[in-house]
Amino acid sequence: MDSLLDGLNDAQKSAVTSPASVVQVLAPPGSGKTKTLTARVAYLINHEGLKPWNIVVCTFTIKAAREMKERIRGMVGEGVEAKLILGTFHSVARRFLVRYGQEIGIDKNFGIADTSDSTAIIKRIIQRGDYTLDPSAARSRISSLKAKGTTVDEFARTTKKAEQHEFTCVYSDYEDTLKASNLLDYDDLLLRCVELLRKHPACVSSIEAVLIDEYQDTNNVQYELMTLLAQKRKRITIVGDPDQSIYGFRSAEIKNLHRMQKDYPDSLVINLENNYRSSGCILSSAMAVIEQDESRPSKSLQATHCVGEQPTLRHLADSNVESDWIVEEIQRSRTLAAGLLDFHDYAILLRSASLSLSIESKLGKAGIPYRMVGGRRFFDRAEVKIILDYLRAIDQPHHNDALARVLNVPSRKIGEVTVKSLLEEAEQKKTSLWKLLHNAAKGGKRPATKISSQAQKGIDVFVNLILTSRAKLLPEDGGYCNLWDLITHVLQKISFEAYLKKTYPENWKDRWANIEELGIQATQMAAAVANGETISDDALPVVDGVEQREDTAADLLSKFLSNVALSTEVERPDGEEPNQVTISTIHAAKGLEWPVVFIPAVYEGSIPHSRAEDHNEERRLLYVGMTRAKALLYLSCPVKQAGQDETTLSSFLSSPDVQKLFSQTGPSIGCSAIADLARILRRPCPSSSQVEAARALLESVEDDKYPPTRDYIEAEGIPSLSFEHQPSGVKRRKLVHLSDGF
Ligand code: ATP
Ligand code: MG
Repeated sequence: MDSLLDGLNDAQKSAVTSPASVVQVLAPPGSGKTKTLTARVAYLINHEGLKPWNIVVCTFTIKAAREMKERIRGMVGEGVEAKLILGTFHSVARRFLVRYGQEIGIDKNFGIADTSDSTAIIKRIIQRGDYTLDPSAARSRISSLKAKGTTVDEFARTTKKAEQHEFTCVYSDYEDTLKASNLLDYDDLLLRCVELLRKHPACVSSIEAVLIDEYQDTNNVQYELMTLLAQKRKRITIVGDPDQSIYGFRSAEIKNLHRMQKDYPDSLVINLENNYRSSGCILSSAMAVIEQDESRPSKSLQATHCVGEQPTLRHLADSNVESDWIVEEIQRSRTLAAGLLDFHDYAILLRSASLSLSIESKLGKAGIPYRMVGGRRFFDRAEVKIILDYLRAIDQPHHNDALARVLNVPSRKIGEVTVKSLLEEAEQKKTSLWKLLHNAAKGGKRPATKISSQAQKGIDVFVNLILTSRAKLLPEDGGYCNLWDLITHVLQKISFEAYLKKTYPENWKDRWANIEELGIQATQMAAAVANGETISDDALPVVDGVEQREDTAADLLSKFLSNVALSTEVERPDGEEPNQVTISTIHAAKGLEWPVVFIPAVYEGSIPHSRAEDHNEERRLLYVGMTRAKALLYLSCPVKQAGQDETTLSSFLSSPDVQKLFSQTGPSIGCSAIADLARILRRPCPSSSQVEAARALLESVEDDKYPPTRDYIEAEGIPSLSFEHQPSGVKRRKLVHLSDGF
């Protein structure tokens, strides 16, 4: 018991050990909510004897799920964490649908349509119907209706306006297309799981406890899902913070906090009031920002760390100069801190993903390794997407979009017009593209689309590739298919290396390395299964009275592809944390923390964003960004933006009371500041000789030698310093640009 509660304060301990059925921890950033939730999971297992497979834990991101698993492993022992039903709402829902979905007519081999699949389907429907709607806008509208639980029939019933007619047709056609392709989109995963659990409560009869992190960002369907998961025991723990509600634009309902209190009036509500993350100065500045929201009840939050260095608010000429300054500050602070800080301690948090371009290029030039989070995912890289589409087509030949995307990649002399017309023919006939192609190749009924003899040859080759690959899915010995063999088979058949060389002569090697990484991912999963390890993603209780489907060898590929579709983050799939600066949107940084945080572009129009509807939500976003910082926080505002008028500092920062909390110049990082930094970060403090050496180095180094290289450090005889600007062994990744965000 002691070790589990070690390092928790009294309020945290009472939340962890409470016998109350429903516990709500509502508390500010850095107060240890996630830590408390994690300890409660361990407590339920170790002290209340709950079986891990009877506990559901929902986190907001996959990274958070992974971190939580690691912490739980430390508390309850190796292997137990893998048996928990732990993941994002979507992955938890998928697990139940895979296992029991047949009860509500979901085909056991359903695929997941990701956002780009959905947009492509909607785009085609709009083109076919000659509608005037914008595909992405229609997709997000459909998604927000679904998130609210409004089906197409309900929408049609309640909306009589003629101008909604086009949209209703698109919504309806979209649902039909998903059904015909045996696909569920992200919203369907949640909605259909709600339907399943409502109709067949036996599926969750073994669930003893449900725990939710970042509760403030749940939407109505997720609330419903939480209630249904907990319907037998009604044992729920939620942790959240209304001040960090930043997903209103995606239908998150801050009202769910009140709903919880209304629906579970006997619940125990616990407040945590100590912040264990940030220095006193950083906390004061963040509080000054959030307290400007007068609609918000006032709250108390005490810093547990020392005051630390004042955060910086810097005005710079333009975004180019701003990026240069960020790079210089990273180099300067890292040198001055004499080994206390390294690249992985820095994060650059952006309101909009598009802001990253200039920063990326400057970091690249300075030789600073970095990685992207919250932008384009590893799995969205062009070359990776092609191979994934092949795998999807093999796994699910009725996935029209995947098939259409790779039918002529690499070129098989099947023109774009032919591909498009075949796809439309399939959708109009409510059949699959695969059926049309297969018939054409095997001499069956010919499609109405005119196909040249050259194109027909290409189709024959493609159909043959899918068939031979599918044969590999079901090995004769009845064992699991080897995904590595399957991927290699595809790569060879389509001469993918040669295709990359020809298409991307300048960086084909990097792209090929990504394909190898994809192969490694798939193989690791296959190996885990071959060794008899459970894939934690599928740990679900055996339930009497509900028919369960048997796992088959071919499921391995489906599992891999589902994991891919649900990995909404851009983190490296293997979860390794290399020594790199993180660039992330603020949204994707929720729940995380770094010693040093930069938030550039804090001007009106950027934050608050010109297109954002809810001003207070934008303020909360800035608050979330600022409260990610432990020791050093830098905000900056370019005075001019290329091609635009002068900018105005964000109204969230313009009041004199807020401004006085910031320094205009930047932290000095003197000796005592380094000692404070070490305390805040709970790391050993560098010795005074190390600090002196770092200072001497910074003064002596010539501009063109900056950042100091290993050769330079050795030549100067400064052995106590271990930094070099490009640590050997760290593979620097060239990352594609961010694509999402506003
Ligand atoms: P957020 O709202 O940003 O998600 P949170 O409330 O979930 O924050 P945690 O991430 O759980 O906060 O904790 C913040 C930091 O404080 C972590 O580094 C954690 O280890 C540390 N921490 C939490 N509780 C304590 C404690 N009682 N003593 C020391 N450190 C703590
Ligand atoms: Mg948290």
